[in-house]
Amino acid sequence: MSLIVHKYGGTSMGSIERIGNVARRVAKWRRAGHDVVVVPSAMAGETNRLLGLAAELKAPQTQDAARELDMIAATGEQVSVGLLSLALQAQGVPAVGLAGWQVAVRTDGAHGKARIEEIDTTRVNEHLRAGRVVIITGFQGIGPNGHQTTLGRGGSDTSAVAMAAALGAQECLIFTDVDGVYTTDPRVVTEARRLPRITFEEMLEMASLGSKVLQIRSVEFAGKYRVRTRVLSSLTDPDIPIEEEAESGTLITFEEDQAMEDAVVSGIAFSRDEAKITLTRVPDTPGVAFRILGPVAEANIDVDMIIQNQSIDGTTDFSFTVHRNEYDKTLALLQGKVRADIGAGDIIGDQKICKVSVVGIGMRSHVGIASLMFKTLSEEGINIQMISTSEIKISVVIDDKYLELAVRALHKAFGLEEASA
Ligand code: ADP
Ligand code: ASP
Ligand code: MG
Repeated sequence: MSLIVHKYGGTSMGSIERIGNVARRVAKWRRAGHDVVVVPSAMAGETNRLLGLAAELKAPQTQDAARELDMIAATGEQVSVGLLSLALQAQGVPAVGLAGWQVAVRTDGAHGKARIEEIDTTRVNEHLRAGRVVIITGFQGIGPNGHQTTLGRGGSDTSAVAMAAALGAQECLIFTDVDGVYTTDPRVVTEARRLPRITFEEMLEMASLGSKVLQIRSVEFAGKYRVRTRVLSSLTDPDIPIEEEAESGTLITFEEDQAMEDAVVSGIAFSRDEAKITLTRVPDTPGVAFRILGPVAEANIDVDMIIQNQSIDGTTDFSFTVHRNEYDKTLALLQGKVRADIGAGDIIGDQKICKVSVVGIGMRSHVGIASLMFKTLSEEGINIQMISTSEIKISVVIDDKYLELAVRALHKAFGLEEASA
C-alpha cells in the first residue's frame, strides 16, 4: 500500500457534479488500497471572484491590506475541501478536511506570494492511520505571526508537491483540465501535442517562462525532493482502471537521456504577464545597475530580463522587465528617488509586450536554434525587442499583438506538430 497525493485544479472542482467525479476517482484509488491525500483548488473562477470583491473596496495596498486579501482568498479552497470531504463521505469513504493552518503548512510572511518553509505531517499521518482520506486546502499556509498566507496564483500545485515531499509520497498526481503537458498551450495552438515525458529541467523552464500548467514553485519542489510528479486529466471517466490512469498524462523525469524523442526543442512557452521599463540616458558608470535594481529588489519585485547597451557618449539606455502586476509599483519607485539618485533621462514604460520562449534540453548539443527562431520571427515581420538565453532556452520579448502568430510559427518551424509521441 502506498501513499499518493492527488491535486485537482479549479476546473476539475468547478461544479458539484465535477466534485462528485473527483470523489469517485479518489474513492477508486482508496479502495485499491492506497493512502490518499487530496489537495483541491478553489472552484473555477472563485479566487478571481473573491479578489474582485476585495478590489471594489479600493483599500490602499499596504501590508495590512495584503493580510486581509489572503484571509479572503484562502476561503475558496476551504469551500472545496469541505465539499469534497462531504462528497467522499456520501460515497461511503471516510474523509477529513484540513485547512493549511490546521496541518500546519508553515510559510514565510510574504502575503500573496508566500513560500512554504515547513510542513508538520503529524496530524495528516494520524488521520491516514485511522483510514481516512485527508483533504488539504491548496494555495495557503500560516505565516510566522500566525496570519493566513497564500502562495500566489496557481499555488495549489505547490501545496500538493510540497505535501507529497513532506509525506514521502510515492507519487504526486496533478489532475487538471488537459491530459498532460503539451508542446505549447493547446488553447493557442490546436496542433500542440502531449508529451508523455518531460525532463524536470525543461518543465522548470516551461513553468518559469509562462506555461501555467504547473506553478513554477511546484516544479522546484519536485526537483529538490525528487517527487515523482505526473500531470493528467481529471475529465476522463473517473472509473477508468487505475493501471491505465497511472500511465497516462505526462511524467516529469529526472533522467536527461529520456528527453522527448531527442527533439532539440521540446516546447514553446509564452507569457503575457510582462511589462518593460526603460530608463534613458543613464550614466554609464560602475554601480548604476545596482542603484536602479537594488531598490526594486528591496521592494520584493522580481526582475526578469535586463538589457544595457554600450555607451557612446557616457550615457546608456537601461531596460528591464517585471511582472505586469508589479509594473505600477516599479514605475512609481523609479520615478521617485531612484531617478533623482542616478540622474537618468526619461522613464518609459510599456505594458503591451509579451515573452515567447523555445525550450529544449537538446539545445545543449545543437547549434542554430537561435538563428532559426530569429529567422522565423523575421519572416512573420515580428520585431524582437529583447533576447535572453540560457543553456536550454531562448526567450524574446515582442509586441503582445504578435503573441499567437509567433507561437504558432515557432511551433511549426521547430517541427513540434509532426514528431510522433
Ligand atoms: P488547474 O486549474 O487544473 O490548475 P490551470 O488552468 O492552472 O489548471 O492549468 C491548465 C491549463 O494550462 C490548460 O488548460 C492549458 O490551457 C494551460 N497550458 C499552458 N501551457 C500548457 C502546456 N504546455 N501544456 C498543457 N497545458 C498548458
Ligand atoms: N485558487 C488559486 C488560484 O486561482 C490557486 C490554484 O488554483 O492553484 O490561483
Ligand atoms: Mg493551475
